[in-house]
Amino acid sequence: MSDANSKPLNFLEQIIKQDIDSGTTTKLITRFPPEPNGYLHIGHAKSICLNFGLAEKFGGECNLRFDDTNPAKEELEYVESIKRDVAWLGFRWPGEVRYASDYFDQFYEWALHLIREGNAYVCHLTAEQAKEYRGWATQPGKPSPWRDRPVEENLADFEKMRAGEFDEGACVLRAKIDMASPNMNMRDPILYRIRKVSHHQTGDKWCIYPSYDFAHGQEDAIEGVTHSICTLEFADHRPLYEWLLNNLPVPMVPRQYEFARLELNYTVTSKRKLKQLVDEKRVDGWDDPRMPTISGMRRRGYTPASLRNFCDLIGVTKSGSTIDVGQLEYCVRDDLNNVAPRAMCVINPLKVTIRNMPAGETQTMKQPVHPNREEMGERELPFTREILIEQDDFTEDTSLSRKKFKRLVLGDYVRLRGAYVIKAEESIKNEAGEIVEVIATLVEGTVGENPPEDIKPRGVIHWVSATENVDCEVRLYDRLFNDPAPDAGDKNFLDALNPESLTVVKGCKGEIGLQFAQPEHAYQFEREGYFCIDAQYSNGSTLVFNRTIGLKDSWSDKV
Ligand code: ATP
Ligand code: MG
Repeated sequence: MSDANSKPLNFLEQIIKQDIDSGTTTKLITRFPPEPNGYLHIGHAKSICLNFGLAEKFGGECNLRFDDTNPAKEELEYVESIKRDVAWLGFRWPGEVRYASDYFDQFYEWALHLIREGNAYVCHLTAEQAKEYRGWATQPGKPSPWRDRPVEENLADFEKMRAGEFDEGACVLRAKIDMASPNMNMRDPILYRIRKVSHHQTGDKWCIYPSYDFAHGQEDAIEGVTHSICTLEFADHRPLYEWLLNNLPVPMVPRQYEFARLELNYTVTSKRKLKQLVDEKRVDGWDDPRMPTISGMRRRGYTPASLRNFCDLIGVTKSGSTIDVGQLEYCVRDDLNNVAPRAMCVINPLKVTIRNMPAGETQTMKQPVHPNREEMGERELPFTREILIEQDDFTEDTSLSRKKFKRLVLGDYVRLRGAYVIKAEESIKNEAGEIVEVIATLVEGTVGENPPEDIKPRGVIHWVSATENVDCEVRLYDRLFNDPAPDAGDKNFLDALNPESLTVVKGCKGEIGLQFAQPEHAYQFEREGYFCIDAQYSNGSTLVFNRTIGLKDSWSDKV
């Protein structure tokens, strides 16, 4: 991958560099602020790489802060998964993780401050009424009848809200800004809601919770965040972000910047929709290897380096565009090609008996673990009288040209990877007429050597010993959605689910060394793709491999 330092600075890097050069910023502080209401997905990876990446690049720090202001949808499981995912991507936050809920006392004080200054009021309109009073984009709202109550009444009502004396939904605390503002976010936005639910961090201490808008800027100010980077949909919230900071006695004033969120074709990046897939059991959990979640991609065998390279490759811009998922796949392949050990695995086995190889004899073939990385060493492959090749790698059709079919044809030669050149002499069929065995002969002296000139093998195929191998199952994944824009417009993303996104193949046979395969360490199964052990599906007797990705982009040929 290209050296990050040699690339031109993106717009955020330019801003930060200027702020540092001019002395406005002495130490860059950014933050990654997920709401713990689901697992992180590829879009979050972009935000993580951006925020933590900027801190790394400019000698600053990036906090991991949970925006846990809505206890109804949040869970500890999500908190834990998010910490794991950020760390797995290779980033470290300074000190402990932070929680918006760490600051609830302070937020409460600041809410009182706004009320005392005449900048906030308790509003008893029902949700429906409030909506009507708010107006719409082209029509100004009208003031709530509760807007101009005396400060004392607001203080008393807010205290009652906190004490649990009102029911959920009975009232809210609102900022008093401008009901005629063209920006709907400025029409007396909600600062606090009543929610009588326990919180994963604060238990039952609170029954009122700050809104996202009331929490976000204030959290940034408390933590000394210099550059608060969020996605474009928050641009409209920036005036409110600034209004709150200007009207509160905050320790410093952070600045908000927006960038375009990552949109990938064939992919859904919305926690709500991903949660629906999980809840409706359309996938096998948040970390199903087909999911675009960080944990799913990890389980499937994607590497942190490939995700970081991808985020680097797509860059950071102010206007949105959809990225081709092929770019992500390219980054995965590119990294795995460099790091993955090679192995042979026969996915749909066909027995080949080598007539001139004595039964019971084992010869040991040697192959490099990686063709370009000698330091990774060699692997040993037992070669026996009975071996297995792919069913697809043999045909009786002798009319197929050498160019078209570079595999084993009855009466012709092929090289077994790392072993002998063999010739197919005969094929044996079952009653149904299916080929169940091939009888072959090996050409002596062809291990690591060319055969005599008159013998021209059609190609090279992979194989394993039929007697010394590892049983395995492989799970071949295809895209989860077969529509490039599964949730565009008013489409129901569930309609775009690809019914063939998972194919389970049992009875595969891998080379013996695969018994030591570890989860998250992908192998390249020669000619088949990259595969890694699935710790959850594997059991004592059968290893289960996920296909991380094919060797080539096969999708573009398919559609
Ligand atoms: P979702 O829409 O999936 O629920 P979210 O924005 O609600 O995502 P948060 O937990 O609030 O999820 O996101 C944490 C951070 O990640 C935010 O700063 C958000 O802007 C950023 N983020 C979320 N989705 C993307 C995306 N697709 N591309 C880039 N950044 C994203
Ligand atoms: Mg959000």
